[in-house]
Amino acid sequence: MISRRLFAKLGAAAAVLGAVASPRLLFAGKDGEVFEITKSEEEWKKLLTPEQYHVLREHGTEYAFSSPLDKNYEPGTYHCAGCDLPLFSSETKYDSGTGWPSFWKPLDNAIGTREDRTLWLMVRTEVHCRRCGGHLGHVFEDGPPPTGLRYCMNGVALKFVPKATSSS
Ligand SMILES: [Zn+2]
Repeated sequence: MISRRLFAKLGAAAAVLGAVASPRLLFAGKDGEVFEITKSEEEWKKLLTPEQYHVLREHGTEYAFSSPLDKNYEPGTYHCAGCDLPLFSSETKYDSGTGWPSFWKPLDNAIGTREDRTLWLMVRTEVHCRRCGGHLGHVFEDGPPPTGLRYCMNGVALKFVPKATSSS
């Protein structure tokens, strides 16, 4: 026989399970941030190359000087490799000498940031696409004027769209 008390407990457990299983919570970012574009890890794996998946979804870092976009100075727009959102303009790109594509400013409403403490004794500011949450790189305060910021991006997380064919 199931007591009234046990019934109440089961009800509470079901409510908790229901909350955990809701897509909104399931695909929320690590710090609870919810993104407009959400996909399962399997879906991302199908959509991205292994290198893109490692950087965008696993917060990986490409080897310095490995991206052809590092030395690309053609006019155009840099889009998110995960969801195609325009993130940076070639007008704010500069040669930081680090071996990673660097910008001093993102486009409006393009990126999100969060504190990153994965390196011992070092707090960095992580940069991700505000639409799909894909990891892009970090931002540092040693950039050129007028912002003094250096958006240090993984080229593999970006897709360059030359100006002539840019849809933005
Ligand atoms: Zn994106």
